[in-house]
Amino acid sequence: MARAQLRRVPLSLGAEHAVVLVQSYDVAGVRPLAPVDASARFATPDAPFRALTLARVPLTLASLRAGRLDANSAFDCTGFRCTATHGHVLAARAVGLPCLAFLDDLSRRVGTAAIASAFALLDVPSPAIPDENEARARFVTTGGNWTLSVLDALRLARSLLRRPAPWFSVLDDALRLPFPSFDDVRGVVASDETSGWFVGYVSAAAPWIVAVHVEGCPDGCVSAALRITRWAVSRRAVAPATPRTSTAR
Ligand SMILES: [Zn+2]
Repeated sequence: MARAQLRRVPLSLGAEHAVVLVQSYDVAGVRPLAPVDASARFATPDAPFRALTLARVPLTLASLRAGRLDANSAFDCTGFRCTATHGHVLAARAVGLPCLAFLDDLSRRVGTAAIASAFALLDVPSPAIPDENEARARFVTTGGNWTLSVLDALRLARSLLRRPAPWFSVLDDALRLPFPSFDDVRGVVASDETSGWFVGYVSAAAPWIVAVHVEGCPDGCVSAALRITRWAVSRRAVAPATPRTSTAR
């Protein structure tokens, strides 16, 4: 891997601290890593961040592989054990939101080993997944103590673009973001009171995989992570040696 090349993320994008990893993706592999950092505070791709609901991706894959879930699966969220009352939701939407009650329910129907092998399939180091039902539900809905590095998250982003077999359309649908201006972005986002992240890819003729972790976002860490994703990809997509083309779109 090439040496990290650091650039500052403009504060105007909405986060006091950010680590962004962007890689171009093609069948031949990936080009050197290009981290971008808003501060000196966590300047390395190894900086850990709280996973929050990231386990929903391996959990969903495990459930699909185990036949516990399919494209027609639906869930009725009453708001119990959830952040909102989502009502009747199809699986893909429930994963994307995420509906925590749905994840809680799903986690009780899939075994620890199945979830661990989904982590492996997605190329993410598996944390300890609790055997006991309540603890496992807490793990998938809060992340528990699980932290991972931004570099690990970038591997997940790469897997999401690669779609390792067996893959399922439910997952593709779950990766669509509910923001019209991010139609070309696929992935998962999450935030808590102080931090947030995006893991996924920007699809184009030459796709880019992205992992972003942000902290200190006055207007919300999800929107900051997405703005920084857009910014980082547009900066990386124009290499210094590339002649300028007319302003795209
Ligand atoms: Zn819900």
